[in-house]
Amino acid sequence: YHDRDGLIWMDGALLPWRDVKVHVLTHALHYASAVFEGERSYEGEIFKLTEHSERLVESAKILDFDIPYSVAEIDQACRDTVAANKLSDCYVRPLAWRGSEQMGVSARQTKIHLMVAAWNWGSYFPMEQRLKGIRITHAQYRRPDPACAPAKAKAAGLYMICTIEKHRAERAGYSDALMLDYRGRVAECTGANVFLIKDGVIHTPEPDCFLDGITRRTVIDLAKARGIEVIARAIMPEELGSFTECFITGTAAEITPVSEIGEHHYKPGKITETLLNDYTELVKPKKRVAAE
Ligand code: PMP
Repeated sequence: YHDRDGLIWMDGALLPWRDVKVHVLTHALHYASAVFEGERSYEGEIFKLTEHSERLVESAKILDFDIPYSVAEIDQACRDTVAANKLSDCYVRPLAWRGSEQMGVSARQTKIHLMVAAWNWGSYFPMEQRLKGIRITHAQYRRPDPACAPAKAKAAGLYMICTIEKHRAERAGYSDALMLDYRGRVAECTGANVFLIKDGVIHTPEPDCFLDGITRRTVIDLAKARGIEVIARAIMPEELGSFTECFITGTAAEITPVSEIGEHHYKPGKITETLLNDYTELVKPKKRVAAE
């Protein structure tokens, strides 16, 4: 990832990709004082950009630091990064973190940095797997109690257990892992929210201890616009066998149908297909007729 051409926006300037470096005594590297976003640009326009920038600022506040740029400035940095790299359909990764001025748990004197990188990132899961539905296994780690971790922040530290579970899943031949929450309820995958369907109704866990994804909220709106009922509630793992369709959502994953969660099997059906088509349509920038 580091050895390539292109430009990365770092602390206000677009710099050559290979030159953007941090010191090994960066506080974020030792103590996970970092927050990030994941965005997608479709035909050069970043979908729900301001919501992502707002969430980044909010995540930093939760970790007790202020990003020295406004939401509007972060929006512009993201747009400039996509344009400077001459990208159209791509993934955008802003990251804010504490620098290397102070080592130790206390880090109030550290400089706060912001960078934005963008690169081509096609389907998060291989396309042929995605159409058939991906296979998911059960994770061992659980999403932590919000009393034990800043569950609402998109914070680097919360991904430690996600990487462990994703590796475990991949080694066993699966695409992802389903994590339960600290109470033993169905929570989410390692980088995506989960939806389950039976009898024409969509069920999804209440996001009270994990990220309420921007894609999750978008998909709920799309379902409601189609008159499909969506129930956000506590879902127990014992219920997983009672659903007929399943999909996961995220900026990177978009809407990805699921064919298996452990011993349970699903078949991508009408609702998954309808929402997948609606989402694909929605993310396309609206071309202004007046300009033609
Ligand atoms: N949960 C986790 C753990 C994630 O990493 C993501 C991706 N950011 C999501 C859910 C989905 O969030 P969004 O739809 O905002 O990308």
